[in-house]
Amino acid sequence: MRLLQSAVRWIYPAECSGCHDLMSEEFGFCGKCWSELGVIIGLACHFCGAPLEGHSDGGVEVCDHCLAYPRPWLRGASAARYGGLTRTLVLALKYSDRTELARSFSGILASKLTSFDVQDPLLVPIPLFWKRRWSRRYNQAALLVQGIAEKARVDMQLDALQRVRSTPILKDLSDAERFTALDGAIKVMDQAIPKLQSRSIVLVDDVFTSGATFSSATNALLSAGAKEVFVLALARAGKNA
Ligand SMILES: [Zn+2]
Ligand SMILES: [Zn+2]
Repeated sequence: MRLLQSAVRWIYPAECSGCHDLMSEEFGFCGKCWSELGVIIGLACHFCGAPLEGHSDGGVEVCDHCLAYPRPWLRGASAARYGGLTRTLVLALKYSDRTELARSFSGILASKLTSFDVQDPLLVPIPLFWKRRWSRRYNQAALLVQGIAEKARVDMQLDALQRVRSTPILKDLSDAERFTALDGAIKVMDQAIPKLQSRSIVLVDDVFTSGATFSSATNALLSAGAKEVFVLALARAGKNA
């Protein structure tokens, strides 16, 4: 097996997922790209993972945005700030078929999952509306879930949720308009309801912006019988990040 891996490596050398420089390991980042990812370490918001100034006094730290829009989930985290190289790679994952990037980020996301200290979590991706899923051919959030599940050896349920209607392009909307647009837009699939009962769910998406999508999905999961919900995003957008 090792010989085969060496042969494959010789034909297809491992590259940095950020700049394509040669590396010893696949699906990783070189030191320079790692430093440009804006990985969030240190003090962060309890609900969204946005980086915060200062030091913790041991209590729960919450960003201004999560104070303005109370969250229905228990705890949240984001792997990196949405900007620079991370923004470039998120867009490549979503729109340019760079599906392998989900695996490149799985280690960082798995370590964020560990920080929740939740027993036997069930990973669930935020769904795309079926037309968008059909035209893109994959759901980037589902790819992220598969990467984390493999890395952290936890359960996943890829088809737990569905979008029951198309939502407008959110980037032109205010936060309040996003919450209105997403209210009731995500439902639990009937066949998934028994699998969610009394489970600790970890919702996964590529970008956390207003939290409206995560709120809609969390409310649907709690109504369907989930025990508790956590949220995990690859990147945190917004002024705090
Ligand atoms: Zn690199
Ligand atoms: Zn927050």
